[in-house]
Amino acid sequence: MKPIYNFSPGPAMLPHAVMKQMQAELLDFQGTGLSVMEVSHRSALFEKIAQETEQNLRALLKIPKNYHVLFLSGGARSQFSMVPMNLLHGTADYIDTGLWGHLAIEEAKRYGDINVAARINYEGVATIPTPLNLNPKASYVHYTTNETVNGLEFHHIPDVGEVPLVADMSSDFLSRPVDISRFGLIYASAQKNIGFAGLTLVIIRDDLLQEPMLMTPSMFNYKKLAESHSLMNTPPTYNWYVTGLIVKWLQQQGGLETMEKINKRKVEKLYACIDRHDCYSNRIDPSCRSRMNVVFYLPDEAETVRFLSEAAERGLLNLKGHKRVGGIRASIYNAMPEAGVDALVSFMDAFAA
Ligand SMILES: *Cc1c(COP(=O)(O)O)cnc(C)c1O
Repeated sequence: MKPIYNFSPGPAMLPHAVMKQMQAELLDFQGTGLSVMEVSHRSALFEKIAQETEQNLRALLKIPKNYHVLFLSGGARSQFSMVPMNLLHGTADYIDTGLWGHLAIEEAKRYGDINVAARINYEGVATIPTPLNLNPKASYVHYTTNETVNGLEFHHIPDVGEVPLVADMSSDFLSRPVDISRFGLIYASAQKNIGFAGLTLVIIRDDLLQEPMLMTPSMFNYKKLAESHSLMNTPPTYNWYVTGLIVKWLQQQGGLETMEKINKRKVEKLYACIDRHDCYSNRIDPSCRSRMNVVFYLPDEAETVRFLSEAAERGLLNLKGHKRVGGIRASIYNAMPEAGVDALVSFMDAFAA
């Protein structure tokens, strides 16, 4: 059977070794005769999985002691509401670099005064907008580290002074090391790079666990969620376990420094291929091209359709761009092996010829 490579933006492919382990442990978790799916979230069995996952994640990401890790449901889009409900007092700054940043702004406007500190300009080659029109009295600054739809990623952490920095890292979380201490709050839904749909991770600094707006549902209250160790209600237990497997898999790969090197090698091959053929074009400035979602265009729609169908015949799947921006999008998260990128590059070379 020829190999299949799944370039889906999310839910995205999982590491093959992790899928094998899920399969092996599905009916009988480590000799208990039980599946992780069918035990209480308050059982000793699950408690051990939950604690180990958090400890391993803390070690992998070097999360400082004064940060809490929350394992929640509701997706990244619930965070678009939870962040302002818990942290917004008056006004907040938002950086708009694409669809997700834009949607976060639209949601936050329900809860207070939102200042758009900078907005992406889609004319020509897109880049990170500067300067940032920041308000030193803002409750926080929100940005999207990697815009999954248009393929624009910050290669640096914006300097926002003393104001807490809040980041939507849904599509590049755990793709490289990150200095957690620069952030007040980080959130990421699991289905891009750290598991499958249903789990959302939040990393929040101690001092930001304040009383939220009065109308905030208990399930949206970071302070209560932290106090209950994310067990206020039934959390997505099986996802939590799978994310634990992925964290262990990342440790086995050599940790986040190694993942950064591998991801860099993968993405450089792909952009080099786009840049050496006239028939492909990318519309993002090289200083902020995404290392996870590589978006590019063919000269017209007919060629795009032909590209997608010939790619699929070769087992290169789910390369269609997001409907908002069209074109082709190759999502190459941690789980995408280098061989998958090599297969795509050799197809692209052949197609260009
Ligand atoms: C996918 C994505 C979201 C939306 O995540 P859901 O879990 O579907 O709510 C938000 N932000 C970014 C950057 C994403 O890639």
